[in-house]
Amino acid sequence: MSVTDRCNFRCPYCMPRQHYERHRFLPRSDLLTFEEIARVVRVVSGLGVTKVRLTGGEPLLRAELHRLLELVVRAAPVEVALTTNGVLLARKADALARAGLRRVTVSLDALDPQVFRAMSDSDHDVGDVLAGIAAAERAGLSPIKINTVVRRGVNDGELLPIARRFRHTGHVVRFIEYMDVGTTNAWKPSDVVPASEILERISSEFPLEALPSGGMGEVARRYRYTDGGGEIGVIASVTAPFCGGCTRLRLSSEGKLYACLFAAFGDDVRALLRSGADDAAIAELVTRVWERREDRYSELRARHPRSLPRVEMSYIGG
Ligand code: SAM
Ligand code: SF4
Repeated sequence: MSVTDRCNFRCPYCMPRQHYERHRFLPRSDLLTFEEIARVVRVVSGLGVTKVRLTGGEPLLRAELHRLLELVVRAAPVEVALTTNGVLLARKADALARAGLRRVTVSLDALDPQVFRAMSDSDHDVGDVLAGIAAAERAGLSPIKINTVVRRGVNDGELLPIARRFRHTGHVVRFIEYMDVGTTNAWKPSDVVPASEILERISSEFPLEALPSGGMGEVARRYRYTDGGGEIGVIASVTAPFCGGCTRLRLSSEGKLYACLFAAFGDDVRALLRSGADDAAIAELVTRVWERREDRYSELRARHPRSLPRVEMSYIGG
């Protein structure tokens, strides 16, 4: 669930600055309220959803996010996780954990300050992200997942430093192949560092062995350091698509429902919420979207022209 389409970073692979300078972000009245989001969670929980991830844009830009946590946890027996760029996490981790947050994923593409700046196109300090991870640890949110998108020639030199930094911490770095989400990031196949190469480079210094899959819906392939240094994951959605095992439904911050990260159009849940529809009508819409789902973009990637419309990741939530 995306709680905002705004962000304090301009990662060129997600929200390239030249494009977002002229972008009109959603007015506040278009965003689902916390009460509306909690209601949707209650309804989808009744349909079998057990895990909710709050994302964005940058979810920590949404004021009082801990209040949403409280409402969601009260509304339904779901595990709530958060994906954040971590810059504001040091200030907010405690309140979020107390409100019922169970898991956090922090995106961190580089430790080197200059490379961090190039990947995030922001003046924020990588030290703030590391402080956010430390605060999340203190708040009891371990083990933390660290998401690292890998772009050839930009941050691939950071693979080993990041792996080294998080060995023996209990946290799990997931290296992500750069994906062609949206239409603004000028993605090229040559920008992608394939998961096989990521694994080779890391295991050249820290030998790895494969672990069994985390089960249905798990997007990362898991590996552990043979010396007991912990675990990493790779998300190979370009070179080894996993559409067949995908169990995710996505709700944008204005209440559009998508069954795929690469979809062009979403179904309008907000219209139902604001027209007095009962829970059964909302459940029916969600069920319809899920049942008619045929998306398998990543598996068919080569056949899709780049010019087809596709929703942006900062809008739909990553
Ligand atoms: N702002 C938060 C963050 O960065 O963690 C949450 C939203 S962000 C869209 C969620 C995740 O999507 C991040 O880990 C980000 O690195 C990843 N992401 C964004 N664009 C991507 C792309 N083109 N390919 C692969 N991952 C991407
Ligand atoms: Fe913002 Fe996250 Fe997208 Fe970077 S990846 S621009 S932090 S939403």
